[in-house]
Amino acid sequence: MSDQIVIIGAGQAGIQLADSLRREGHEGPVTLIGTEDEAPYQRPPLSKAFLLDQLDESRLPLRPDAFYEQRDIKTRFGMTVTAIDRAHKTVTLDTSETLPYDRLALCLGANVFIPPIPGTDLPHVLALRTLADAKQLKTALASAESVAVIGGGFIGLEVAASARKMGKTVTIIEALDRVMKRAVSEPVSRFFEALHRDHGSTVLLETLTEEITPGGVRLKNGDMIPADLVVMGTGVAPCQELAMASGLHCENGILVDEFARTSDPDIVAIGDCAAHPNYLTGQTLRLESVQNAIDQAKIAAKTLTGTLEPYRAVPWFWSDQFDIKLQMAGLSGGADTSVTRGNKADRSFSIFYFRSGKLIAADSINAPADHMAARRILANDARTLTPEQAADTGFDLKQAF
Ligand SMILES: Cc1cc2nc3c(=O)[nH]c(=O)nc-3n(C[C@H](O)[C@H](O)[C@H](O)COP(=O)(O)OP(=O)(O)OC[C@H]3O[C@@H](n4cnc5c(N)ncnc54)[C@H](O)[C@@H]3O)c2cc1C
Repeated sequence: MSDQIVIIGAGQAGIQLADSLRREGHEGPVTLIGTEDEAPYQRPPLSKAFLLDQLDESRLPLRPDAFYEQRDIKTRFGMTVTAIDRAHKTVTLDTSETLPYDRLALCLGANVFIPPIPGTDLPHVLALRTLADAKQLKTALASAESVAVIGGGFIGLEVAASARKMGKTVTIIEALDRVMKRAVSEPVSRFFEALHRDHGSTVLLETLTEEITPGGVRLKNGDMIPADLVVMGTGVAPCQELAMASGLHCENGILVDEFARTSDPDIVAIGDCAAHPNYLTGQTLRLESVQNAIDQAKIAAKTLTGTLEPYRAVPWFWSDQFDIKLQMAGLSGGADTSVTRGNKADRSFSIFYFRSGKLIAADSINAPADHMAARRILANDARTLTPEQAADTGFDLKQAF
């Protein structure tokens, strides 16, 4: 049997899976198909160093050119899979070509979610997901004087910080009562809100957009925010249409088990497009992070090569805004206790979150040692760190792992 593995989606998860399959000893053919013209590249710098011209495009690829030939990975970049025929085990490309598979991996990522606001189709309204988007945004930023960012999530705030660093007039328009609400606790939101204000940006909270016009953004309260560039930082939606059309179970993502298997045992799904049972929270979760894409790919490679190992990696994430690095370990939702380690005024501190006395997460602000310690503590089921120890900067966190 040739055991042909076809990977759809040449992003962070797809390239890691191709790599890990070879490391796990898969000798059969591997084909990596991706819509984008480029070989897989890093997305995180697109809203940060790349936008600010501090990182050249040549530094973005996730693997060197030689990788594909050395590992015998066949590539089909610039091509989109339009259908999966599970009965005949084939995929169809937009070129009308049909490829057979024995096992299939869905690494489809997510698309920018654009809410139904009138005017989002105007030429000065941009969003950021791909390298092509980033290049377009960079060009637009060069000539823009005023920028309105709709959505105060990670990507919106990172773009806002980059635009402000370039000297633009920046207005952040957030519908909720605090920034990054979906991912961080209130003190962290307030810290970043103040950070953006301190750098001269306007942060509007609980503010809804009525429409985007050629001159800017009209708010529901009637105010007009002048802007020659509008950036939609309104989140993403998982790419799951292809999976749904082929009859796979989906619910805010392609549903997988702890081994990355979909409702079809010959198909795995990983990364931003997949919703997995999370061992830390006990809930079905879809994570949008580099860590999740890489660690799930390693698990899926094991599954596809015959070793069932459950996905139990500690989630972690980072965001760079101005001179601040936020690093998050674990998932803080559902915490009943939180303590601060360090001093907020020093702009280097961490918040440790506990539930029923057990550490569940830590958000670190310019405190990388705390972040690394939290990851190691969270990786250990015992998680003996107490809130008192976490709050005491005299306590060496290394003693807790
Ligand atoms: C601007 C930006 C900044 C970010 N910053 C951070 C950060 O600081 N830290 C962090 O942890 N994460 C960050 N992320 C998130 C991180 O990049 C994603 O979580 C990660 O890329 C997910 O990997 P993935 O492989 O699941 O999806 P992707 O990397 O999006 O790859 C999916 C690929 O599949 C392709 N595809 C989809 N459908 C098809 C099809 N039918 N046929 C062929 N190809 C298809 C897509 O075109 C895409 O190239 C950032 C993301 C963006 C956009």
